Amino acid sequence: MVFGFGKKKPTAKRNDEGDESDDDDGDDDGDLVNFQGAMNGKSVDLVAQGKLVQVALLPAKRWISSGLERRAEMIRLDVKGENAHTTLSIDGMPYGGSRMPRQQASYIIQMMKFLAGLDAKIKGRHQAGGIKSEYLGAKFELSVEVIPHAEGTERLTIRVRNLKQKLDTPAELGFTESLRQSIRDLTAHRRGLIVVCGPPGSGTTTTVYGLLRGIDVYLYSIYSIVNTGSRELLNVKTFEANDGDNYETSCLRMMREEADVIFVPPLKDAETTQQFMSVADRICIVSEMTAKDSAHAIAQLVALSGNSKLASEVIDAVFSQKLVRLLCPECREAFRPSPKLLSKVALPPETKVLYRKPVPVVDEKTGEEEPPCEKCSGTGFFGRVAMLEAILVSDAMRVLIAMNATAAQIKELSRSEGGLTFHKDGLRLVAEGKTSLEELQRVFRVWFRGPFVEAF
Ligand SMILES: [Zn+2]
Repeated sequence: MVFGFGKKKPTAKRNDEGDESDDDDGDDDGDLVNFQGAMNGKSVDLVAQGKLVQVALLPAKRWISSGLERRAEMIRLDVKGENAHTTLSIDGMPYGGSRMPRQQASYIIQMMKFLAGLDAKIKGRHQAGGIKSEYLGAKFELSVEVIPHAEGTERLTIRVRNLKQKLDTPAELGFTESLRQSIRDLTAHRRGLIVVCGPPGSGTTTTVYGLLRGIDVYLYSIYSIVNTGSRELLNVKTFEANDGDNYETSCLRMMREEADVIFVPPLKDAETTQQFMSVADRICIVSEMTAKDSAHAIAQLVALSGNSKLASEVIDAVFSQKLVRLLCPECREAFRPSPKLLSKVALPPETKVLYRKPVPVVDEKTGEEEPPCEKCSGTGFFGRVAMLEAILVSDAMRVLIAMNATAAQIKELSRSEGGLTFHKDGLRLVAEGKTSLEELQRVFRVWFRGPFVEAF
């Protein structure tokens, strides 16, 4: 499916680059991406590559711009037979993009390698780099990866990072006020281990940064021993470890400098987990880890620590998340849910209105679909938000953890204590009109088994 491809935005026309003579589709070059240098610092001499630039720069710009216009976080070019096709990932979902002849794809791949400071002449070998870019006034980092693919072809993958996009504070991340209060209460103890977990690629890092931004930096002194890259953490002091120091001694030195909270690297192995747990009775440690859900994360932490008593004393909270797409605010469609539907999905019976993705409108005369929504290009969604699950460790939970409880037992107690579950948080997003029941059904295929959609 191709939605709104090649759609233009009304911006000032600029003809300072490229050759428009073959511009038969009316694209305005001023709307195209500007490439601003390789991220590896290698100088990129366009003049020396005159021939390649002539055949490939403008098509490469158009190809990337089409993906950026549709807010793709990933743009991929695959060659198959005599043609090449584009796949875009938008809000985590795959969509088809433009197609082009094999030769043109090969020029674009060469051009992207060259712009990323890679060796454009070498083919059939894994190469990776990045390009600093600007599109419609926003700065982007495009990471470029070329891998050898079937039948001697190459696959080009561009991963997009919008440097302007802010998903920073707990409010922007959609944390509820009560959850934000819980984070403030937890850090007020100046002790304990707080962990954010999720499957790989689920945006855990964004949530852990959001959590850190929820801590009052005027009351607490926050240190980090994580290389935060280009993600800014204001008022957080980055700690430089001494040679020969391990994590435990580094933490002790930060405590002497009166740190209240320390942001540490992901908990992956027994050694680092034990070092951080050994100090977490005297300082608040914030970290992330890979785990299916919060209950599994606690069971994993106990196993890594090799000491269920210590684990039960220091683990204070585990947050887990799943990403769900937000309905496009421009085209979402309101409907009145039936009492049957409300009772089936456990929403309050007084709920008056819910929202869903609109059905495409067909023109009665021509039988054609009307143009898709400009904001979301007809996908019906715009951006994603994290649904959260939280286990705030109670005294009863500490007793259970100390007994080497299973993830299932931990989950059961948390539910009986009324802890925040994905189910509750997801339904809150539905009730607030931020997402649809169908989207929750997609994310939780197992949870919502059954044809509830027909119950409208
Ligand atoms: Zn829309």
